[in-house]
Amino acid sequence: MPSREVLIVGGGAVGLSAACYLARAGARVTLLEADRIGHGSSFGNAGLIVPSFCEPIANPQALRTGLQSLLGRPSPFRIRPRPDPRLLRWLLRFIAACRPARASQGRALLRDLGLESMRLFEELAAGEPGLGLQRRGWLHLYETERALTAGLQEAAGLQQTGVRAQPVNPKQARQLLPGLQGSFAGGIFYPEDAHLDPYRLVLTLSRMAQDAGAQVLSGVRALRLRTEKGRVTAIITQDEAFTAERFVLAAGAWSAQLIPQLPLQPAKGYSLTLPQPPALPERPLMLGEAHVVMTPMGDTLRTTGGLELLGFDPAPGLEWGQRLLAAGARAFPALAAAEPGEVWFGYRPLTPDGLPIIGPLSRLSNLILATGHGQLGITLAPITGMLVAQHILSGQTSLDLTPLLPARFGL
Ligand SMILES: Cc1cc2nc3c(=O)[nH]c(=O)nc-3n(C[C@H](O)[C@H](O)[C@H](O)COP(=O)(O)OP(=O)(O)OC[C@H]3O[C@@H](n4cnc5c(N)ncnc54)[C@H](O)[C@@H]3O)c2cc1C
Repeated sequence: MPSREVLIVGGGAVGLSAACYLARAGARVTLLEADRIGHGSSFGNAGLIVPSFCEPIANPQALRTGLQSLLGRPSPFRIRPRPDPRLLRWLLRFIAACRPARASQGRALLRDLGLESMRLFEELAAGEPGLGLQRRGWLHLYETERALTAGLQEAAGLQQTGVRAQPVNPKQARQLLPGLQGSFAGGIFYPEDAHLDPYRLVLTLSRMAQDAGAQVLSGVRALRLRTEKGRVTAIITQDEAFTAERFVLAAGAWSAQLIPQLPLQPAKGYSLTLPQPPALPERPLMLGEAHVVMTPMGDTLRTTGGLELLGFDPAPGLEWGQRLLAAGARAFPALAAAEPGEVWFGYRPLTPDGLPIIGPLSRLSNLILATGHGQLGITLAPITGMLVAQHILSGQTSLDLTPLLPARFGL
């Protein structure tokens, strides 16, 4: 059989994973990246690979938190109310997806995807030790009894779906995180989670894809699709029309610029990376009340937080540097005296039900979407790449794509 010609739009973790699995299976792959490879949301995030984080963002509790934020209460979540029909439609779908039954289906699905992706990460890391995959678990810490109780309830629900979770008291938390200070009521340890430097991941995937024959082009922006009789025939860029048999749209939060009907909101989040931190936790942790994550990345420390639905808001958000540092100093007080680090922000591609969109668009059957990974795009990159490759090359996928198809949004 002649090899399939595939054109991928988007050089983040998801597009590069698809390029890698497709090229390794013999497809002729070209990937177009508008900017520099891996400088979208995949660049400065927390780098967690967390099958345990499978509670979809649309869940009954999130509905309450979202409403509080709309009412102006202090919250790491922020929505800027604006007369935007797409945001309104997205919010209505989000509210519908917060029903307990839908949230529970979403949880089981994200768990399955996460566990399978972890297996693929282990496989990738076995051949690429430079990937720097660390499997040391993830500790959630709570300062108040109230937050701890809510955390324990969530953990109990996750345990029922097969996720390993160990409640820990403050002494056990200190054993897991030597140097931890501050006053904590307790925590929950998710021992099976892992972490890595996400930029190192994208660079490794890019190299692996190219080693397998893929052409990776940066600085080439897809401007629009050329279509004919229910199929995409080319991607038009400023200088060229790129033809192929199959097309993959993996442009993260920007995917809706090419398919405007996609229900995606850019959910802005921030990170602060300290090159020489005065304290460095041994493993990743989450400060439950603040929803702030701290990840050791080599000798550096990255602290992340915030989820804001502000549209593509270009403000650098430098105030987040101080905010993230102050949150981190509650666990490691030495951080209060840290030298200023680098503040970064990225746009998570967020769907209203919190599940990614993977599969063909019904009206353009040779266009495969691989987007909408929200908070989990690093975690789910390998499994997404694998599913896209299986779908394109054999029409059969190892996991059922039905609940992930764009058809669930009428697309
Ligand atoms: C603060 C923060 C912390 C996070 N922490 C984690 C975490 O710990 N674990 C986890 O799993 N996930 C995490 N995420 C989410 C994760 O970063 C994203 O889900 C993931 O990076 C999305 O990958 P992507 O490849 O879909 O998109 P991106 O990485 O954004 O890549 C899309 C690419 O497409 C390119 N592009 C856009 N338009 C075009 C066009 N027209 N033509 C060509 N190219 C185009 C862009 O330039 C970009 O490089 C976090 C996100 C944030 C913001």
